[in-house]
Amino acid sequence: MSAKLPARFTNEDAARKHLEALQWPDGPVCPHCGVLERSSRIAGGRPGLLFCNACRKQYSVTVGTIFERSKIPLNTWLYATHLLCSSKKGISSHQLARMLGVTYKTAWFMAHRIREAMAPKAGSEPPLGGEGQIVEADETYIGKKDGPKGRKAPQAGGFGHKRTVLSLVERGGKIRSFKLGGSTGAEIAKTVRTNVDRASTLHTDGAQAYKFVFPKGQHESVDHNKTFVREGKTDKVHTNTLEGFFSVFKRGMVGTYQHCGEQHLQRYLAEFDFRANYRVKLGFDDATRGDIALKGISGKRLTYRRSHQT
Ligand SMILES: [Zn+2]
Repeated sequence: MSAKLPARFTNEDAARKHLEALQWPDGPVCPHCGVLERSSRIAGGRPGLLFCNACRKQYSVTVGTIFERSKIPLNTWLYATHLLCSSKKGISSHQLARMLGVTYKTAWFMAHRIREAMAPKAGSEPPLGGEGQIVEADETYIGKKDGPKGRKAPQAGGFGHKRTVLSLVERGGKIRSFKLGGSTGAEIAKTVRTNVDRASTLHTDGAQAYKFVFPKGQHESVDHNKTFVREGKTDKVHTNTLEGFFSVFKRGMVGTYQHCGEQHLQRYLAEFDFRANYRVKLGFDDATRGDIALKGISGKRLTYRRSHQT
């Protein structure tokens, strides 16, 4: 690793201090009993170990996080998080392995854990949009068009199987993407209803699935290239924000990740959503974006332990 990097990427103590400041802005909180400021540092033990005087248990800042029990140094985790947060089209596990000085397999596992930190906790975010706001909804298809030797792809399953992705974006705001399963039409309607504030105006293409999801007058589709009036201004009906997002996502999936298994698609979507939601245009720089991802490491250990072990 280069000497020019910030200390938290090269030194384990600096990395732990950085993480502690992020996770415990008001002082250490015991993860066992939730008590604040009753802990003391344990001298001579494992670095970062604290003792809770309330419940008399030991803990460190990584308890209950995706970094718990990892043999990978914390500074390597922080550097990996930074790289994934600041690479616009993502970063391949080969590239990550080279930059971190770890094996390909380790880099792959690390990247997937970090993607989980980037995903919002289920139900933690309010619906998109609201009164006077536009929410765009659109789908795209991920997967290879043709099989080996240009053979026509089979309809479902196998090498030519395409996955449907639905994305929702509040114009000028946040984006949420979903991997859909089989019955796309019903799933689209349900996902839009769950994730978009009922007072918003929905912009979509002419697909049947979006009809009747929102009340009349709150849904505009692009098919007739029409305009509509909002707050006294004439706006064009479009889903250009999502077209731009899909283009970045697809270039990343093809160029950086060379496609992925269906079981991992939602994690890659979380990664691209995350970078878009904390983009420079909304006032976030690389360092802030990295810190937001690091704040997402807690409460996700179960998710990662279900998926794999290293
Ligand atoms: Zn305690």
